[in-house]
Amino acid sequence: MKILLMGPPGAGKGSQSERLVKDFDLTSISTGEMFREAYRNGEQLGIEAMTYIERGELVDDDITNEIVRKRLLRKDAERCFLLDGYPRTVTQAEALDGMLKKMNSCLSAVINIVVDKTAILERMVGRRVCKQCSATYHLSFRPPKVRGVCDQCGGELYQREDDQLESVQNRLNIYETKTNPLINYYDKRGILKNVNGMQSFADVYADIKRALRDIT
Ligand SMILES: [Zn+2]
Repeated sequence: MKILLMGPPGAGKGSQSERLVKDFDLTSISTGEMFREAYRNGEQLGIEAMTYIERGELVDDDITNEIVRKRLLRKDAERCFLLDGYPRTVTQAEALDGMLKKMNSCLSAVINIVVDKTAILERMVGRRVCKQCSATYHLSFRPPKVRGVCDQCGGELYQREDDQLESVQNRLNIYETKTNPLINYYDKRGILKNVNGMQSFADVYADIKRALRDIT
């Protein structure tokens, strides 16, 4: 089973992907993780990628395709994998199809977690983190007992730059403009499975499993 998991920032894609990898014994292929690893190892590819990531931009297609191509050639990616964060553009999707075809393979399914943009904004913009112990809170869904103060250690709560309205809006807009054509691309190929992301973690997961039932 070779699947791609898609969903905008804040859709809970990370936790769903962790669970899928565990339950279905998949090799997790996350470009974000690979870039960070390459960067830590001082590889040129990683250093170049980080200049994009730091600006909040998508990493160049050629760099991204290359890191994925290398990864797919490894033994543990032969049978089953879950792609996370790649492909993000139609150009990347075409490149991926080409790589897999050379290996006599193809994607089995594309799971798309569909969420409401306004709800995602609210979810992310309301997030607060403790400066001392990194505990996370939410102004509406999980407020601290005392405004601005951590329940656990009394530390000061703050809003991460990533969670500020403009940053979230920016990422959502990038995601939408770049990803919508990709969703159409996989829809036309008949392998797109939309899953309603506006439910509890467990319900979203159950829907994903259902969508994968007939897939080998
Ligand atoms: Zn704290």
